[in-house]
Amino acid sequence: MTASKIDSKAITEDQDLYSGLIRLHVLHHATEEPIFGLGMIEELARHGYRISPGTLYPLLRRLEKKGFLRSSEQRNGKSRRTVYHATPLGRKALNAAKSKVHELFEELVEGD
Ligand SMILES: [Zn+2]
Repeated sequence: MTASKIDSKAITEDQDLYSGLIRLHVLHHATEEPIFGLGMIEELARHGYRISPGTLYPLLRRLEKKGFLRSSEQRNGKSRRTVYHATPLGRKALNAAKSKVHELFEELVEGD
C-alpha cells in the first residue's frame, strides 16, 4: 500500500468533511430502491467511505425525521429488516442538492 493510499483512507474517515456527501449518497440510492443499513454500509465502502452501523443508523433516522426517507419493515424469510425509501420531499431535496453538487464539481474539478 502506498503512502498516499493510507493518507486518503485516513482523510475519507473525516466525518465532518464528508458527512453531507454521505447523506446525499444515501438519499440518492433511496430514490432508486429501498435501502437497508448493512447494504448501504457495503455500498459506501465500495466508494471508499468507511462508516459504522453506529454512524449510519442514526443518520438514516435523522433523514427520516426530516421527512426525506420513510422506513418500513421488510420480511426476509424469518428475519425482518428495516428498509428506507425516499419520500417525494426527499426526491425534491436531492434534486435541489444535485445542482449544488454540480456547481461545486465544476469549481473543484473543472476549474472556474
Ligand atoms: Zn453509490
